[in-house]
Amino acid sequence: MHYWLPLIIFCFGIVGCRDSFDGSASSGPGNAMAPRVPPERFGVIWDWMAVDSGTVQSGHSLSHILGPAGVSAGAIATLAIEAQSIYDVRNIRARQPYWIAFDGDTVQPARYFIYERNATQYARFDLRPPYGVTLGSYASDTLIERAQGVIESSLYMDLERIGAPTNLALSMAAVYAWTVDFSRLQEGDKFNVLYEHVYVNKQPVGMPRVIVCHFEHRGRKLLAYRFNQGKGDDYFDENGNSLRKAFLKAPVEFSRISSPYNLKRFHPILNRTKAHYGTDYAAPKGTPILAVGDGIVTKSSYTKGNGKYVKIRHNSTYETQYLHMSKRAVNVGENVSQGQVIGYVGSTGLATGPHVCFRFWKNGKQVNHLKEDFPPSEPIESGQMDAFRTTVAEWRMHIQDREFAVR
Ligand SMILES: [Zn+2]
Repeated sequence: MHYWLPLIIFCFGIVGCRDSFDGSASSGPGNAMAPRVPPERFGVIWDWMAVDSGTVQSGHSLSHILGPAGVSAGAIATLAIEAQSIYDVRNIRARQPYWIAFDGDTVQPARYFIYERNATQYARFDLRPPYGVTLGSYASDTLIERAQGVIESSLYMDLERIGAPTNLALSMAAVYAWTVDFSRLQEGDKFNVLYEHVYVNKQPVGMPRVIVCHFEHRGRKLLAYRFNQGKGDDYFDENGNSLRKAFLKAPVEFSRISSPYNLKRFHPILNRTKAHYGTDYAAPKGTPILAVGDGIVTKSSYTKGNGKYVKIRHNSTYETQYLHMSKRAVNVGENVSQGQVIGYVGSTGLATGPHVCFRFWKNGKQVNHLKEDFPPSEPIESGQMDAFRTTVAEWRMHIQDREFAVR
């Protein structure tokens, strides 16, 4: 893995730009001293081989591919067994590229079969006794790039318009999953993002990884800095607060769980087994019900079963719903913050006594929130603060000089 130093920042275009930090300083005097070696590929001296290449056809097995290269059925069977613990040949998939290398002038049987597992990894099979397989990776470069622009339609379209990778939108949405609903961006929102992208043979592969992002949403600047304080990469604002937010443990204080999430509950009113997709918290009538996290009210309504209820979307992943209220305190479209009173405990709808039935959605499916593994949301620890501030200052230099300098 090679890390290009960010040396030059170019900015072009009127409403957006994408920079690449060029590694033009990498050809130093050291390169001139390097000894000349024959070109190597897949870990073998490639220049001395005769090579056939293709892509795996649908329904083809190793016999279809290697038979014409002079490899016997017995040899293929032995190879499959010898390779199994390192790379199982049954994992070979259609449409993946492969190469068959022959010693000298296509001497049969072939010497190597190289199968490309994905954009960065390959498996090299040795086609002569004692047979076997070696896994390898292509040489890759990690480039640091920058994309800056103003939202005109959607982040995806706007990234495409300025020539930045469109899958950067997914990476950015993940960074801001708890603070910005990317389906509700506003025209005029601004982004300025530095990210890493891995290149193999000058082609970008995989997802871009955000290093730092300055995002302006509805006039509010939301900064995100990547930092690892020993538990893996995470994103923090300029003060070291995690960009993730923890939900409140329960929507009512001083309550008790009267009925847990249970897919095989016997319903006390319906007198039959009916999945209970919520957690019931019993509390006196009129007890305030709190939003467990920031969000937007998507439903504030009444049905025969739910009674008076409210539903909140917190981000692109999570939604919560609160049933059987005696009174609702918010309207559809309203922004609510964590801990805000959204209604009061009651027993409207199908309920035997005053309680709130709390329902939790993850990616559109109801789940038991007490069993969910929420990502940590701890801020930067005090012992890591100096290192964090140094990291922030460093990246700000690279991103800030033209911060939101969109004309
Ligand atoms: Zn319930």
